[in-house]
Amino acid sequence: MDRDASSKPSSLFTEALHVWRRRAEEKDWDVVESIAAFAQPAGMTVQTVWEELRDMVVDDLKAAGPIDVVLIQCHGAMVSQACLDCEGELMSMLRDIAQQAVIGLELDPHNHLTARMLKACALIVSFKEYSHIDATPRA
Ligand SMILES: [Zn+2]
Repeated sequence: MDRDASSKPSSLFTEALHVWRRRAEEKDWDVVESIAAFAQPAGMTVQTVWEELRDMVVDDLKAAGPIDVVLIQCHGAMVSQACLDCEGELMSMLRDIAQQAVIGLELDPHNHLTARMLKACALIVSFKEYSHIDATPRA
């Protein structure tokens, strides 16, 4: 798990972070990065693990201070033992913190787009190609 994934070689799960950092730095915007993590799909996420990951992102946003833009790359179909919409829960919590920010979400094409995600985000973009070859252009 990294908080500087965009400064390391790109992978499917960090491609968008690289694009967003490069574009922000071209504009001399400050970038604050939170965690990047990946696990192979294997059933429901253990609730305490989900809550720890979620709270890391939430705490990083709180620590960042006033924010204009929040961009998140997630799979979009994560389920934990007590939450059927982990990404929607995360985006809703981020919206509560950064009420005036533009919040964007990039999702895997196998996401479960939910009303909660739609309510929290200003924009949501999904990869369109299988096998996940367009994360960078979609970012
Ligand atoms: Zn997928």
